[in-house]
Amino acid sequence: MNVSLEMSPGVDGGWLYAAGDVNGRALLTHQDKYQARLVGDNIAGRARQAWADHVAVPRVTFTDPQVAAVGTTEGPAREAGIDVRTARYDIGATAAGALAGKDVDGTAQLVIDADRRLLVSATFVGPGVGELQHAATITIVGQVPIDTLWHAVPAFPTLSEVWLRLLRANAASPELPERPGTGRRLGRRGRNRCASVSHVAFELTDAVLPLPDGVRAELRREWARLAAPGTWLSGPERVAVAREARAARTFSDADAGLPALLTEVAQSVSAAADLVTREWVSDLRGQGMAIEEYVEVVGVVSRLAAVDAYVRGVGSAEEALPDPEPGEPTGERNGQVRWRNAFVPTHPEDGARYALSAVPAEEEARDQLHAQLYLSTERMADLAYQDVLSRAQMELLAARVSLLNDCFY
Ligand SMILES: Cc1cc2nc3c(=O)[nH]c(=O)nc-3n(C[C@H](O)[C@H](O)[C@H](O)COP(=O)(O)OP(=O)(O)OC[C@H]3O[C@@H](n4cnc5c(N)ncnc54)[C@H](O)[C@@H]3O)c2cc1C
Repeated sequence: MNVSLEMSPGVDGGWLYAAGDVNGRALLTHQDKYQARLVGDNIAGRARQAWADHVAVPRVTFTDPQVAAVGTTEGPAREAGIDVRTARYDIGATAAGALAGKDVDGTAQLVIDADRRLLVSATFVGPGVGELQHAATITIVGQVPIDTLWHAVPAFPTLSEVWLRLLRANAASPELPERPGTGRRLGRRGRNRCASVSHVAFELTDAVLPLPDGVRAELRREWARLAAPGTWLSGPERVAVAREARAARTFSDADAGLPALLTEVAQSVSAAADLVTREWVSDLRGQGMAIEEYVEVVGVVSRLAAVDAYVRGVGSAEEALPDPEPGEPTGERNGQVRWRNAFVPTHPEDGARYALSAVPAEEEARDQLHAQLYLSTERMADLAYQDVLSRAQMELLAARVSLLNDCFY
């Protein structure tokens, strides 16, 4: 029987309701009982509609191991046009799994709607996973944003800790960052929170690999650039952007005193670049952010990523951020850039090389750092170039690392 959301097949007089398997909506005892409760309410005059039996039907297959799932699984979600990200994790690899011993073996998977930042489905395979599932049902029914889910901390050591691992492993890789809803214009407090760097930057005495002098000098130049007023951002704002970008890698909020929008951009570009869409960038402009300001944040955050990865690569701890310099941003616009096909205007054409051209100082800084950490633009074109590695070896290494990090290369 086809029924309405009120479980009514629509007979004359409205006296008939049909709950349970007979209406074919969700052939499971608990859903039938949900519908029956709802019918009871409707008969009693409390108008209620059933919707959870479309989006959040929990189901457990009581095999050994159990299979538990709720929500729309990956394939149908994709077919429905949802931009899905999936995350998988081995349940046995949680602390509780390790404590329980070899029998705890299984997989958990989340399917996330990347646009709406909501959980679409969760599937668990393993012993007793039917009990893990209700948290997923609540998350879907309650439309709990992924960002908020970070704060639903499971107790240690329980199997529910798989939720933490799943959020970490999600296909945004690096993970979806938090998008905090609050922020303040950078004030005195923000300035005071910047680390005081009394030592010479990039001494890296704990590095296990030697640093070429050219690289060390360039890293110091980059820190000076970061601290100085830029084209659209002041020195304190640039350093605060870097602070938020670092915090986003561990899903925390640096509370660096930036306005909410700037915080969101710094965190998103840092830790979820693959979620940056044309619509999101255009929405930033709608919210009042100059496109050049966005480009400057991309410049600062992407060079920070390169610097931090390099420093970690030689076996050292990340360098403390520099003290910001006073002064005003220049506010200069590059009159030569044009909207072409990129998310931002560029000159003279689209492509990674010109991505920052709306803010020439950022483009120049990228070129300089790039030349030291990788190759100069001129050498990029020389496929026979030989340094410690040949060009071919560099490309192979870069492609492999990109693959392992689930990046575009
Ligand atoms: C093998 C199997 C395993 C299942 N395992 C699970 C599970 O693990 N978890 C889960 O949630 N669901 C499970 N289900 C599904 C679940 O059993 C059904 O969704 C649920 O029982 C449906 O409840 P219902 O009241 O809507 O219908 P039913 O349970 O089918 O009840 C309908 C009743 O109406 C009676 N009836 C039919 N015609 C007439 C008539 N003309 N006059 C009077 N009475 C009539 C029938 O005899 C029956 O008793 C399983 C189903 C099967 C078959």
